[in-house]
Amino acid sequence: MRILITGGAGFIGSNLLLHWARRYPEDDLLNLDKLTYASDLTFLQSLDGNPRYRFAKVDLCDRDAVRQALDDYRPEGVVHLAAESHVDNSIAGPAAFVAANVVGTFNLLDEVRRQWSGVPATSRRFLHVSTDEVYGSLGPQGAFTETSRYDPRSPYSATKAASDHLVAAYGHTYGIDVAITNCSNNFGPHQHNEKLIPTIIRTALKREPIPVYGQGTNVRDWLYVADHCDALDAVFHRGRSGERYNIGARNEWRNLDLVHAICAELDGLVSPMPKGGFAALIRFVADLPGHDLRYAIDPSKVERELGWRSTGVFHEQLRHTIHWYLERSR
Ligand code: NAD
Repeated sequence: MRILITGGAGFIGSNLLLHWARRYPEDDLLNLDKLTYASDLTFLQSLDGNPRYRFAKVDLCDRDAVRQALDDYRPEGVVHLAAESHVDNSIAGPAAFVAANVVGTFNLLDEVRRQWSGVPATSRRFLHVSTDEVYGSLGPQGAFTETSRYDPRSPYSATKAASDHLVAAYGHTYGIDVAITNCSNNFGPHQHNEKLIPTIIRTALKREPIPVYGQGTNVRDWLYVADHCDALDAVFHRGRSGERYNIGARNEWRNLDLVHAICAELDGLVSPMPKGGFAALIRFVADLPGHDLRYAIDPSKVERELGWRSTGVFHEQLRHTIHWYLERSR
């Protein structure tokens, strides 16, 4: 198949491209990416020279460029990951999020509709990668299911929610074969420095104060990026048309406990450690409105229907991630 992956120079997209090239060496892959500050093509160096891989520098907000890229490539499947993805940036400057996440998704969808019209829907699939943040914030109990009400509370999650609705509407209205995934917080190699786990590791290695929002009581459900790529693969190939799948690892952590877990790993790995260990560097900073208290995913549907399960070896995955950032800092 000819597969188009948008946002392939970002964190999850680059992991997915490497996964796909390994798992489906007979597929052609086009990585379409604007190359924002969050991207890094060096993650994809191992694909250089692979005749099945191509890169196109395209901004999804540029409709003509999107049309040109699709006409040149004629994809048979799309996995749409390109987005502005950092909540804090969306609070500081929402306009870029409306452009990339809403207008960009619309341009892509509408060009795909044009190109796939008249082609049997069953031979094509558009997989849209979204977030659990569209469901808003949870209290201490419960978990988001695929029927949870949308209640986005930051500009980031509001623009992702809008893009989810557009994708679902294109499925209903134009008969495009679409699927949507809503996943929890990812971690692993290739994640941009601005996100929580890389920030903890980076500041700790510099012996700088490790910032923790509020009292560190916000809860996130952490999913390893390689497990997420397996889930996207399963939904793309075997998910039911028009369905939504929540992807999560049943792995909830209070932010403060997560920071302590990373500091404990670093204590065993990095010397000299600061007096009192790396946890002595923790500093509490004012929380931002728009930060939700708790997210948790109920992944029963994807487990039941597609047999996907997170590998569930969190500490090993965290250690692997820390090693990756340690190597990069050398
Ligand atoms: P990222 O910020 O690391 O990468 C995003 C990529 O999209 C970058 O390479 C960037 O250059 C590209 N991009 C941005 N705007 C573009 C545009 N207008 N045109 C073309 N390319 C553009 O993001 P990520 O963490 O890899 O997230 C990928 C997707 O997964 C996003 O849609 C995000 O909403 C979703 N998601 C991420 C997480 C997470 O924890 N990282 C959790 C849930 C959902």
